[in-house]
Amino acid sequence: MILRPLIPLALAVSLVVSSCSSIGDKKTGDGKISTIANTGYRSPYYAWPARRNPDIGLPSYFTKSIGVSHSRGLTNQPYIAMTFDDGPHAKNTPRLLDILRQRNIKATFYVIGKNVDMYPYLTRRIVAEGHEIGNHTYTHRNLKRLSDAQVISEMSRTRTSIVKATGVQPRTMRPPYGALYQRQREMILNKFGYPTIMWAVDPRDWQRPGVSVVRSRILSDTTNGAIVLAHDLHAPTVDAMPSTLDGLLAKGFKFVTVSQLLNQKAARSR
Ligand SMILES: [Zn+2]
Repeated sequence: MILRPLIPLALAVSLVVSSCSSIGDKKTGDGKISTIANTGYRSPYYAWPARRNPDIGLPSYFTKSIGVSHSRGLTNQPYIAMTFDDGPHAKNTPRLLDILRQRNIKATFYVIGKNVDMYPYLTRRIVAEGHEIGNHTYTHRNLKRLSDAQVISEMSRTRTSIVKATGVQPRTMRPPYGALYQRQREMILNKFGYPTIMWAVDPRDWQRPGVSVVRSRILSDTTNGAIVLAHDLHAPTVDAMPSTLDGLLAKGFKFVTVSQLLNQKAARSR
């Protein structure tokens, strides 16, 4: 009784060992090795959403000549950019990253420097998964009320935190509350090379109007080239994202980062 299960096991082991070197490889007549299908293994099923953003190989290069402020890209193509402000957040940002990854969507995160210092590993994950990082100041104050030296400090402290955490530089900035004088925008572009990025669609998700309102505002207001404002700080915003993103994909929009939108604008003006 004890030996019965051992015999088939020993047989199985000897079979695996003896056939090990030949699985998957076969020598052809000219001496090259060709690979044959390994049909013995099946990947576990994973319920991916029906719609996925296509792989988009648009370049993301631009210079200061792109201009000071932007709220959208080109309107003759279906590219749009999702932007998420005020993170990284310990719970909501990882959840959002999962949602984006499942749909092959690259977004742009306007992070707050002090949150980057608190969650450097989350900031690294944002970059590692192919998203773009933008500068959203260190302390999220109204920059219109700050001196030039204070504004420069907000920008450079955040840049240092992002570079320390991820090894990459932010390329653009977004002012908290959208508050920034034209003169300040020009100073930031000259000093840091950051265009000021506003938005074309604002679902006012920070007022927490509920998942269906956030979704319907974004779906009804988004047009070609739109930069969409949202906040990964708020759980209901992240709750709204699966159906919102699926709805945008169903309408034929393709997701790119802010820098990719800017590159397209630059390419048209050349
Ligand atoms: Zn903000």
